[in-house]
Amino acid sequence: MEKKELLRKIPKVDDLLRTPPLLALAEGMSPAVLKDAVRTQLDALRREILDGTRTELPDTDTICAAIFSQAKSDNLSTLRPVINATGVVLHTNLGRACLSQKAVEAVTQAACGYSTLEYDVEAGVRGSRHNHVEDLLVRLTGAESAMVVNNNAAAVLLILSAVGKGGEVVASRGELVEIGGSFRIPDIMMQCGCTLKEVGATNKTHLHDYENAIGENTKALLRVHTSNYRIVGFSEAVPLAELTALAHSRNLPIIEDLGSGALVDLERVGIHGEPAVQQSVRAGVDIISFSGDKLLGGPQAGIIVGSKAWIQVLKRHPLARAMRVDKMTLAALRATLYSYTDSDTALREIPTLSMLGTPVQDLDTRAQRLCQQFLDRGLSAQVVETEDQVGGGSAPLVLLPSRAVSLSPGNCTVVELEEKLRRRETPIIGRISQNRYLLDVRTLTDAQFPEIVEAAAKALH
Ligand SMILES: *Cc1c(COP(=O)(O)O)cnc(C)c1O
Repeated sequence: MEKKELLRKIPKVDDLLRTPPLLALAEGMSPAVLKDAVRTQLDALRREILDGTRTELPDTDTICAAIFSQAKSDNLSTLRPVINATGVVLHTNLGRACLSQKAVEAVTQAACGYSTLEYDVEAGVRGSRHNHVEDLLVRLTGAESAMVVNNNAAAVLLILSAVGKGGEVVASRGELVEIGGSFRIPDIMMQCGCTLKEVGATNKTHLHDYENAIGENTKALLRVHTSNYRIVGFSEAVPLAELTALAHSRNLPIIEDLGSGALVDLERVGIHGEPAVQQSVRAGVDIISFSGDKLLGGPQAGIIVGSKAWIQVLKRHPLARAMRVDKMTLAALRATLYSYTDSDTALREIPTLSMLGTPVQDLDTRAQRLCQQFLDRGLSAQVVETEDQVGGGSAPLVLLPSRAVSLSPGNCTVVELEEKLRRRETPIIGRISQNRYLLDVRTLTDAQFPEIVEAAAKALH
């Protein structure tokens, strides 16, 4: 057919939009997005005809299918669920902690209607958004007072700005953490208008190092939990109680950035060396901050607990308003904290804790089950022993014994298999180790197995 003739025969945009096959496919899609997709596809067709790569028109169904798949991919959110088969429970790139069912319900309720966010129902007057979690935080940690900001990085920024501005804050050289994303304690100090007074050596800091560093301009002592690294071997840090006693004997506050901050004994889920918030409160630390979405297993938040007087200063600081949390965060955090009122309940209800604490025998049973489903589908797979990191820059030395299914890549390479499973609408994120493609079951649910098996079968056949 002549080019001219072909071009003339290309369907009109409005006609296509009215064709039953497209209407059926595109139900629920934005009309504007669909129209753009029709235009893009027809433009492409026109170009192919003009440059001679196309000599006849595809039928309407084929055109509609192309339009639909284009509209669908335009419609695909860049923020969408993934299947985490890495075994890393607190995967920062995959969204850190998964919320408990109760937290999800609380978020939904808070999100879809009006609430008592800042309203005192008893008195009929304005209330405080801090109230929704303060009582629980006080109860769980033993601190006098508490507040919440957007994340722990914000909490540290607020605390140092409010306490240290215009003066010196003393910290050990062994604790000058970088947590990633250019958040480094020394840089943050500068940002907050305080001068960092480094004491001790990388591996050892003694009480007299702190003593000698305290001067007229000292505003506070700072302790930072080295959450994402450890100094081992010939090393020494000053016990918290001694440091607190020193600060108080000089009328200075002591601040502690705990990183993850545990509210239950994490030894029960196989995690050693994570300091409990209650311990710091008991030791007399004036201001303590930690994350909501690390080992706590709640929403992204920066939790601050401490003395009434200092928390009051922080609540009134102008930065606090810029860092305030929204109603969904508060709802999720309250529900998460409520689970912690009973530690067995917390270990059961909070996905982060239950995933970390799954006994290896259970992981083995579940890996065997997934493996069998692959075999039943005619794929080649076997269960292998693995070790999982906790993730989220927490407990860097802990390796939790786990199980993964090693899926044989058949005719392709493990790299190709990994890519095929990753580049799905719902990406499956596995890991490659020693030229094997591994799906670790710790971070999977059994309900996800059929989808994984189907996806693998499609990728490999
Ligand atoms: C993770 C971490 C932070 C930052 O917490 P976010 O909630 O991610 O902002 C700050 N300090 C330490 C020691 C940490 O481990």
